[in-house]
Amino acid sequence: MTTPAIAANGLRKSYGDKTVLDGVDLTVPEGTIFSLLGPNGAGKTTAVKILSTLVSPDPASGEIRVGGHDLAADPQAVRAAIGVTGQFSAVDGLITGEENMLLMADLHHLSKREGRRVATELLTRFDLADAAKKPASTYSGGMKRRLDIAMTLVGNPQIIFLDEPTTGLDPRSRHNMWGIIRELVTGGVTVFLTTQYLEEADELADRIAVLNDGKIAAEGTAEELKRLIPGGHVRLRFADPAAYQNATTALHDITRDDEALALQIPSDGSQRALRSVLDRLHTAGIEADELTVHTPDLDDVFFALTGSTTVPSQPKEAVR
Ligand code: ADP
Repeated sequence: MTTPAIAANGLRKSYGDKTVLDGVDLTVPEGTIFSLLGPNGAGKTTAVKILSTLVSPDPASGEIRVGGHDLAADPQAVRAAIGVTGQFSAVDGLITGEENMLLMADLHHLSKREGRRVATELLTRFDLADAAKKPASTYSGGMKRRLDIAMTLVGNPQIIFLDEPTTGLDPRSRHNMWGIIRELVTGGVTVFLTTQYLEEADELADRIAVLNDGKIAAEGTAEELKRLIPGGHVRLRFADPAAYQNATTALHDITRDDEALALQIPSDGSQRALRSVLDRLHTAGIEADELTVHTPDLDDVFFALTGSTTVPSQPKEAVR
């Protein structure tokens, strides 16, 4: 067995009396994409900052190894093995894309000639050659992220942390970024990706861990996670808030989505189950404006594990 790219045991972090990470275990095999998935504020960035040596874990944490090096004993070796891009981007808007790249090359002690070669190669690879001489502040969101990744690759890292790489990007730039991330792994790099988007984790990740309340609520491949949810559901949507309210009082065992005026009833999607749902609606005198049948997807897993609008606490206990 090869050494995992990342192995963390009992990762803990508190700020004052707020526990952000409450004993998180992570193992990421080399050359794979691992996604840490969680709602806003779950602690994803904190995990990335710790694993990339920017923030110290609490002393009560267990052993953390990144790139085969002990994080506490040899942070320098960890730093040499990794690249980090994301919310705390290294891109300087006042200078051009090319100058940003050359600055990176200097930091990594490349010769002038080698630095220029690497910069040109990476700018071309990330479709930034035409914009190379323009200030980075004039770049679009997608271009800035691409430059950020290109800058990270100057150091030839084995492990790359991407903290919410597509948050705020339009759909086209997002798909473009997905292609770039896939390509990184083809080159042998390990990717640790945080995201709020289930679709993104589903698309890219070999393994996914769902972070909730400072703990890993579930971990596995997208398929394994989907199997955690016993069945699909029937979704009822209402145009009239009053009709929606009536339905939520009349029906039990439902998950509410107050914003969309929609509710979900667990169901395996069979004709028999569907008939029983329709009977319940008929008996309660409920008329929905839209009825759709869903087989389980990653959304169901996510809501079951992290959802707070569940009435009563739906399969949360069952899936743990
Ligand atoms: P995510 O990346 O999943 O959105 P974060 O890791 O950024 O979550 O934040 C997790 C929690 O930790 C939040 O409640 C945030 O307010 C808190 N937090 C993060 N950094 C600090 C800090 N330096 N001091 C105090 N609280 C912090």
